[in-house]
Amino acid sequence: MKSLIALKPFAHSPKDKKPKYCSTCGSLATLEAHFDVGDSVTMIEKYCDAYSKKITTYRT
Ligand SMILES: [Zn+2]
Repeated sequence: MKSLIALKPFAHSPKDKKPKYCSTCGSLATLEAHFDVGDSVTMIEKYCDAYSKKITTYRT
């Protein structure tokens, strides 16, 4: 079970050769979500705007 820690805006760096894409739909990523997956491990996934509206429902 993973729990959402934080949602942060994600901006592409000019140094990035490859753009980052949303984990769920493949659109350009605009934010990153930090999840606590246990054992002090943080997982970061990138999402688009549309998904950010869904993901806030994961908050407890
Ligand atoms: Zn998406």
